[in-house]
Amino acid sequence: MILNFILFIISFLFMEFVAWSNHKYVMHGFMWSFHRDHHVNVTQQKKGRLEKNDIFFLIYAIPAIILIITGLMTGSDSPVAIGAGITLYGFTYFMLHDVVYHHRLPLFKNTTNRYLLAVKRAHDAHHRPKTADDFDNFGLLIFSGKYFK
Ligand SMILES: [Zn+2]
Ligand SMILES: [Zn+2]
Repeated sequence: MILNFILFIISFLFMEFVAWSNHKYVMHGFMWSFHRDHHVNVTQQKKGRLEKNDIFFLIYAIPAIILIITGLMTGSDSPVAIGAGITLYGFTYFMLHDVVYHHRLPLFKNTTNRYLLAVKRAHDAHHRPKTADDFDNFGLLIFSGKYFK
């Protein structure tokens, strides 16, 4: 029980590392053609419109779904705990990145929460650069303390 709770927390935290490395080396690497529209359209982003970049949600959802279904079918809780950690990370990422930062849903528009404001400043540093090798801050939840100021 406690082991599965630890697995759940570790999976959630590990996903920040997965998201950071995938964003830095894959999305800004050989899958740039799928991520580019997120950077190009960001200024004229329309609510509710899908981006090619949204394919990455699917790529993360598939292993989580497989883990949860396998766990349920075999009666073992650990794969379910790991799948739930990945799913919670995906939901958190969507809420912070797509809702709080990119306003794809009309929520949290005037937040005064210090952490949410720091997330916004940190992600600004990822979207501001105009040249391909000038991007910074590939993670989302964890960033330099300077963005709190
Ligand atoms: Zn990017
Ligand atoms: Zn973004």
